[in-house]
Amino acid sequence: MIDRLAIIGVGLIGSSLALALKQAGAVRQVIGYGRNLENLEKGIELGVIDSLATTVADCVRGADVIVVAVPLGAMRQVFAELKASSGRDAVITDVGSAKGSVVAAAREELGDLWSRFVPGHPIAGTEKSGVEAGFASLYQGRRVILTPLEQTDADAVEVIDDMWQHCGAIMEYLSVEHHDKVLAATSHLPHMLAYALVHHLSNLNDHEEIFRYAAGGFRDFSRIASSDPVMWRDVCLANGDALVTLIDQYQQELERIASAIRDGDADELLKLFGRAKSERDSLIGNC
Ligand code: NAP
Repeated sequence: MIDRLAIIGVGLIGSSLALALKQAGAVRQVIGYGRNLENLEKGIELGVIDSLATTVADCVRGADVIVVAVPLGAMRQVFAELKASSGRDAVITDVGSAKGSVVAAAREELGDLWSRFVPGHPIAGTEKSGVEAGFASLYQGRRVILTPLEQTDADAVEVIDDMWQHCGAIMEYLSVEHHDKVLAATSHLPHMLAYALVHHLSNLNDHEEIFRYAAGGFRDFSRIASSDPVMWRDVCLANGDALVTLIDQYQQELERIASAIRDGDADELLKLFGRAKSERDSLIGNC
């Protein structure tokens, strides 16, 4: 049971965590911090948090678990601000979508709290943001990746592992580097493709007509282009190298398709689509 949980950034991810832990009876008290007072008051009204703090220092004081759930670009500042007021035994974790930049910031800013920091990333989300987007079942049956380092205290890892298991999550452990490489391919690249597709189509003269005839496939594929631009700007900046490598490779793939179409190469198209279909069918099934 977590006695006092501090959530820094009461948005989709932070508020879903608070709701899930409350539903599981795994937390006694939740205190939230954010810049926007209205959002925090809404959080109290919705039962996401029990009280609010107007500074990071007030939020973390006396907390036994601190969850940093702000956009990646804001993490360093939060680490710097929480250091002075956090208890020595408190466990600190984050939920950032890339791990290398967060770990570097935490290592530089947390000082002697560094061994209490457990980097984490729930592989769950929606394209919605803010406290009202949160819901208790978000992590049910979803994977949460922890990327502890050699210096991370084992008991701190155990606390965060337990916390996510109370939310119904399936726990996985990866190195920081492996996490960022895998997530660049499975999450970050698809978001770039969705943003690029919608941006490209919206530049066409007849784009209103194109969107009017958008059918299920387009809706499915483009849904993630409704995700928060700040969050995805930060992911690009945080995981740029891995992402740009994949974008370059993807461009070659598109060129391969374009060239097969130009050449009328039916066999090549069939081979490529057939392989993609069988890979997806066997690896992901009907999800
Ligand atoms: P969100 O709904 O926009 O929530 C972020 C919260 O952080 C907001 O409530 C915001 O509140 C606060 N915030 C923003 N900038 C801040 C700053 N400079 N200082 C302090 N607080 C700040 O975003 P989210 O989707 O929950 O994402 C939060 C984190 O989870 C990100 O690091 C993201 O990479 C990660 N993540 C997201 C998903 C997803 O699908 N959305 C999935 C996995 C992981 P105020 O505006 O009131 O400050």
